[in-house]
Amino acid sequence: MSDKKTALVISAHSADFVWRAGGAIALHQAKGYEVTVVCLSYGERGESAKLWKQEGMTLEKVKTERRKEAENAATALGVNDIRFFDVGDYPLDLGRQTQDRMVDVIREIQPKFMMSHSKWDPYNTDHMNTTQFALECRMIAQAWGHNPGQKVLGAPQLYLFEPHQTEQMEWKPTTFLDITEVWDKKWAAIQCMQGQEHLWNFYKNVAENRANHFRRNSGGMAGGRVAKYAEGFETIFPRTVDELE
Ligand SMILES: [Zn+2]
Repeated sequence: MSDKKTALVISAHSADFVWRAGGAIALHQAKGYEVTVVCLSYGERGESAKLWKQEGMTLEKVKTERRKEAENAATALGVNDIRFFDVGDYPLDLGRQTQDRMVDVIREIQPKFMMSHSKWDPYNTDHMNTTQFALECRMIAQAWGHNPGQKVLGAPQLYLFEPHQTEQMEWKPTTFLDITEVWDKKWAAIQCMQGQEHLWNFYKNVAENRANHFRRNSGGMAGGRVAKYAEGFETIFPRTVDELE
């Protein structure tokens, strides 16, 4: 058993991890974690409108372009393990085959924590289906009777990252993470998403607002940490502690 620290991010489309968890990813990479990002699809049909407006565009060209953007963003965040399942989008094909692939990855990585989308997203069912899928795969990876002999999964927390149009998603943050020290990396990764330039400043604002919440919840304006950028997450499972603080 190695004491390697690992984390797994399951992203429905190839840009989602950047906006929603780029700071958490860069921060944990910097702390010595090995973060694996799995993009289930490239978002080639549903999240690539700007590319589709170009003359002579094809599905393969869009996918190639989106893959390049995601790889560049991963590099900017310090991630060297990014995997593309390429199961299509709008809708994702999350059938048995995809499930088996994901369970294999989870058991291989043995993540200390996992991240995925919000539980509810009526604007983008790919996102909420991914969360359901992540929960199912986590459960299967814990089952002793699934591929007996393999190392089963422990009980990693699942952090749900902040969705777009937060208030519509029944998403409520339980954790704020200060990402100030890696903001430059997240900003560089955001700018790799050439196809979605309209979202760049929106997500900068989100990070600034969440930093305000971080400051408020870490001791208010007097004595609170001077966080300039933060990300919010909702947790699914309870924390287990020896002492309350
Ligand atoms: Zn998406």
